[in-house]
Amino acid sequence: MFDTAVIGGGVVGCLIARELSRTRLKVAVLEGAADVAMKGASAANSGIAHAGFDPEPGTLMAALNVEGSARMPALCAELHVPFVRNGSLVLGRAGEEGALQALCERGKINGAEVSLIGRAGLEELRPGISPAFTAALWAPKGGIVCPYQLTIAAMGNAMDNGAELFTDFRVVRVVREGKGFVLEAEDGRTVRCRTAVNAAGIHADEVSALFGAEKIGLTPRKGEYLLLEKGICRPGDPTLFTLPDERGKGVLVSPTADGNLILGPTAQDSADKEDTATTAEGLRKVREKALEMVPDLPLNRVITSFCGVRAVPAGGDFVLGLSKIVPGLVQAAGIQSPGLTSSPAIAAFVRARLGELGLDVAERPDFRPERPSVHDFGSLPEERKNEIIRRDPAFGRMVCRCEHISEGEILAVLRQNPRPTTLDGIKRRTRAGMGRCQGGFCSPLAAELLSRYLGVPLEEITLKGKGSELLAGTTGKGAKAPKGGAR
Ligand SMILES: Cc1cc2nc3c(=O)[nH]c(=O)nc-3n(C[C@H](O)[C@H](O)[C@H](O)COP(=O)(O)OP(=O)(O)OC[C@H]3O[C@@H](n4cnc5c(N)ncnc54)[C@H](O)[C@@H]3O)c2cc1C
Repeated sequence: MFDTAVIGGGVVGCLIARELSRTRLKVAVLEGAADVAMKGASAANSGIAHAGFDPEPGTLMAALNVEGSARMPALCAELHVPFVRNGSLVLGRAGEEGALQALCERGKINGAEVSLIGRAGLEELRPGISPAFTAALWAPKGGIVCPYQLTIAAMGNAMDNGAELFTDFRVVRVVREGKGFVLEAEDGRTVRCRTAVNAAGIHADEVSALFGAEKIGLTPRKGEYLLLEKGICRPGDPTLFTLPDERGKGVLVSPTADGNLILGPTAQDSADKEDTATTAEGLRKVREKALEMVPDLPLNRVITSFCGVRAVPAGGDFVLGLSKIVPGLVQAAGIQSPGLTSSPAIAAFVRARLGELGLDVAERPDFRPERPSVHDFGSLPEERKNEIIRRDPAFGRMVCRCEHISEGEILAVLRQNPRPTTLDGIKRRTRAGMGRCQGGFCSPLAAELLSRYLGVPLEEITLKGKGSELLAGTTGKGAKAPKGGAR
């Protein structure tokens, strides 16, 4: 029997699990997909740690955004996840000074550090901005973070501290048992728990209904992106926004925490929660809006496009707190942007609510907050790298030439919690396949390593879980992985 089962392995669910692993509670995360941060919004978003000037004052969203932004650097340092305090600029044209002023005032009420600057200040902070923009709001505490690395590291650290992860566990039935619950997956597996947290992203409305709890109104809103290769911007370049409107923060131009340049997102309501297809029209809008801000963007250096789906709550604010209908259930629903930024604060908020339900949420003395990252190898001095390669030659065998990821780094993540079982899982943990060739060269090598390490035939290796097998079968006798490893 678990003290708490968290439904949903996105950034919110995994950070809740990590926060609860600071206590003596027995915690489970139930994720419908084959991996955490694979299916929902945490896998596909802008990766901005917002400073907190945008949410409406007095909302939970405003308070948790500012608190989450303050918590983010220390959290990322403990989990060895890339985070850069690059600052954010909201650009204004002539005639938009009033709107910038209003946004600045809103930010100050929320407790965000913000000021207004003119064209000279703008040019100093980010050369290349269109002369049409004459002023800006400057938020130096804005940052950039890798959302899926944060989610994976949070889950890994929670597991290192005793939490359990159940993947391919889509909760389809909830039965009350005494004061607790039995949560049932599609394949009949069950998990028993005293309390539960609904962190199911865009499906949180359905999960709430399974409990017989409050009706939650969520609208799927698509956001399409273009990603450009590394080397175009410096990670310290500020994130550029135009003024927000009622549909969101608009298209941005920003470095990512890993050094790419990201353009997007669009904001298109959709009837289909699973529709993550990019469209010619959406990407045209992204290009157009981005070029309005930075006219000389090298759009010939786009390496991929992708789309995320926001869970837009009917009331506007996060649906967060104890269920008013079902005792023992905590809702963490409608977590749209700035949900990534707010997630460390949401986790602390949920821990406090579970305390109100009578669980012992006191800190345990033996909690280990650190989780090493394989990315640390790439940033080591050459001498240190050579030392490691001498001890373990796998670190000298290159798998991904674009991102310089070695076999040793891939084997290292296979030994870490939560262990990847798919090619996508390897990619999001190591960046193998995220470079210019988008996995054209390294995918077969990574698949082979996965097959060998997991002890399953190559034909069973998938991109993202069941139904996405890479190979249809073998021709003739089929090729076996070479003994010496991939080269
Ligand atoms: C286009 C876009 C841009 C954004 N940009 C930013 C930004 O720059 N900064 C920021 O702070 N925020 C941003 N956000 C918001 C942020 O991404 C989300 O708030 C955050 O990722 C939500 O995390 P989550 O864990 O609640 O949901 P998700 O990441 O969607 O995770 C929910 C998980 O629940 C699982 N699940 C669903 N149903 C079940 C079930 N029945 N049983 C088991 N598991 C289930 C899903 O498979 C999924 O893994 C953006 C969002 C989008 C879409």
